[in-house]
Amino acid sequence: MDKTPDICPHTLTNKNLLALPIKMKNLLSLAVLTIQFGCGQSQQQANAKTVTTMEPAQHETYDTTKFNTNDRKTLAAFYTRRSIFDQYVSEHKSNLFTCPGCGYPTLEQRGSYEICDVCKWEDDGQDEKDAHKVMSGPNHELSLTANRLQIGQVLANKADSLKSAVNLDPAYVLQALLLHKKKQEAIAQKMNGTEKPNDPLWQAWAESTKVLHIALCRR
Ligand SMILES: [Zn+2]
Repeated sequence: MDKTPDICPHTLTNKNLLALPIKMKNLLSLAVLTIQFGCGQSQQQANAKTVTTMEPAQHETYDTTKFNTNDRKTLAAFYTRRSIFDQYVSEHKSNLFTCPGCGYPTLEQRGSYEICDVCKWEDDGQDEKDAHKVMSGPNHELSLTANRLQIGQVLANKADSLKSAVNLDPAYVLQALLLHKKKQEAIAQKMNGTEKPNDPLWQAWAESTKVLHIALCRR
């Protein structure tokens, strides 16, 4: 199923983005998904899911019997990461919340359809309890589990390519996230809502996410 931004009730947290016309916000939603996930789930995700539930809602669930060693390692890294950032925002009385899709402290509220800057998960409130389920909401065919595996692998691959490791220092990470947000605010302010997906501004938008991922994988 394609994502249909027109019906996505998500909001973007940045005030400038919120001020953009609806069409622009829809474009933002579509673009970040296209950029991050190539217009939908990966084949790996598609292959990894099977219909196993007998519950009334008939949600598809991620087939956890197909977890391999690397998947378990990736999920363990997610839980470690989220625990570190949960503890940090709690101790520092931060107003941020960790994203259920990647574990980074990217959300200003929970369940408000914010799109995570790191993994592009749209926060509809789904979390641990239903992590394996495909809820068919704003994230369509993606379960949280599949999302966690995907972004975890992206970061692990990036860290490997940099001969480094994912940086879990909260102060460093928060600084990188703030810098990224400022870059995207500057790009958004130059947009007027008519840009095509191949517009240089959208390319700059995509590039800023790549730069963020690199920053998160440097120590
Ligand atoms: Zn995320």
